Amino acid sequence: MKKKDKKICVTCKRSFEWRKKWERDWENVKYCSKKCSRTYIT
Ligand SMILES: [Zn+2]
Repeated sequence: MKKKDKKICVTCKRSFEWRKKWERDWENVKYCSKKCSRTYIT
């Protein structure tokens, strides 16, 4: 499986790239930033 890739933030819909801080948790990353993670409401 490819790990260093791009994803689309579910909140702002912008693409973001893999970052070092996410290397252990990349599969679960859904937001480009903490701000988006807090903003998102289902
Ligand atoms: Zn975002």
